[in-house]
Amino acid sequence: MKSTLRRRLPVAVILLSAPGALALGGLAALGHLAAEWALAGVALVVVAVFAILYPHFTHVEALRRYIEALRSAGASDPLPKPPSGRSPVLAPELDETVVETARERQRRRRELEAAITGNETILSNLPDPLIMLDRGRRIVRANPAAESLFGGNLMGRDLISILRNPNLLSAADAAVAGEGGQVVEFALHGEIEREFSARVVPLTTPALDGTVAILSLHDLTAARQAERMRADFVANASHELRTPLSSLIGFIETLRGPAREDGEAQERFLVIMHDQSMRMARLVDDLLSLSRIEMQEHTPPTGSASLQRTLESVARGLELKARARGIRIELSLPDLPPVVGEQDELAQVFQNLIDNAVKYGRTDSRVVVAARLADPASDPAARRIARPTAAISVTDSGDGIPREHLPRLTERFYRINTARSRELGGTGLGLAIVKHIVNRHRGQLTVDSETGRGSVFTVYLPLAEPYEGLDDMARKAG
Ligand code: ADP
Repeated sequence: MKSTLRRRLPVAVILLSAPGALALGGLAALGHLAAEWALAGVALVVVAVFAILYPHFTHVEALRRYIEALRSAGASDPLPKPPSGRSPVLAPELDETVVETARERQRRRRELEAAITGNETILSNLPDPLIMLDRGRRIVRANPAAESLFGGNLMGRDLISILRNPNLLSAADAAVAGEGGQVVEFALHGEIEREFSARVVPLTTPALDGTVAILSLHDLTAARQAERMRADFVANASHELRTPLSSLIGFIETLRGPAREDGEAQERFLVIMHDQSMRMARLVDDLLSLSRIEMQEHTPPTGSASLQRTLESVARGLELKARARGIRIELSLPDLPPVVGEQDELAQVFQNLIDNAVKYGRTDSRVVVAARLADPASDPAARRIARPTAAISVTDSGDGIPREHLPRLTERFYRINTARSRELGGTGLGLAIVKHIVNRHRGQLTVDSETGRGSVFTVYLPLAEPYEGLDDMARKAG
């Protein structure tokens, strides 16, 4: 381009000088002008035309270079320097118009790029998988959530290569053909089965990249699981209440009928009926506790509680029951600062844990309740709390808990041996209550158990106030 312009200058000079040169030549030929004067005149015309054209060509060349530089500048690059100096004929209006247009173009480009970046960020951060389809049902684009669900490299693949549900595929076919959008629910069978709701909608106008329909997926697994758990819970609770209730109804009928006159049977039945009523009362108490704690779980306690006082009082309350099984409850409680918490709720936590240790511990054994400051350097549970923490462990020497049961132990009504738990007066809700109270206290619960040797349940609770002993501990931890 540059050279073309340069080449054009002599041509333009020759063309514009030609009429004058011809006229002078004509005059010389007719003898009206001496040949030397005619030549001098032609030279003068050429020089004058060159002098007039040269600045224009230079100006146009400067503008051309400026526009060229604008073309290659990125949206965020500074604008190239506009042509400097005054233009002889077209300036200053042309220069100003070109520079103004360049600025406007740059501003629009920045706005456009900002909008595109914003949209890309939204798309990349959308937690729900999103897939764009072309007319042939091929994947034009997929956001990172979709790529991590189906594995990377989805571009250009037919939807059927990642989703085979027939209802979903026919909904996708309808959407890419411009028919209405649809919602389809389906399950993805993998290591863990996941349930999804898929929405396929056609675009009102196809996008430049060929997208004609969008498929968005919403993971329903957690919601469905919660629904199932709620239904299971109601079924379990009803069943737990139904069993003692049926037994009570049965005994009442017997007492009113066949055993009406049998004093000895009446005495025996009343004992059983009392046990069954107590079992129902315990169950109702635990259900109420659980629902109260769950409602409060999102508001952490603000008070402080003394571990020593709480543990001593709970242990005293369980002494008789323990002694009946030949079990000794031993307390190892150093002088610890108070923890953040509500005394009554913490008492319920240790009541349930020590009661379980007594229930499931071996007869004629020990249950050890020990409190200490937890060392975050060596204790992952203390580290998770990220605050100075006390750890209270309840150790029994019972049968222990097989490893496979440990993850589900705090689920409501989950028991290793339901008959044994019932026989020992358990409701199956004790550890669920413990877990929710500990959660509310922003603490941690860990269970270590070895079959045949016993179990250790440890509760970690944040301390209510700074404790000097911790500095020593942190120093030791390095
Ligand atoms: P339960 O009322 O049945 O004791 P929990 O919720 O307190 O209910 O405990 C759930 C189950 O966990 C119990 O049924 C029992 O199988 C098991 N479990 C709890 N604590 C212990 C323990 N210290 N030793 C052995 N098993 C235990």
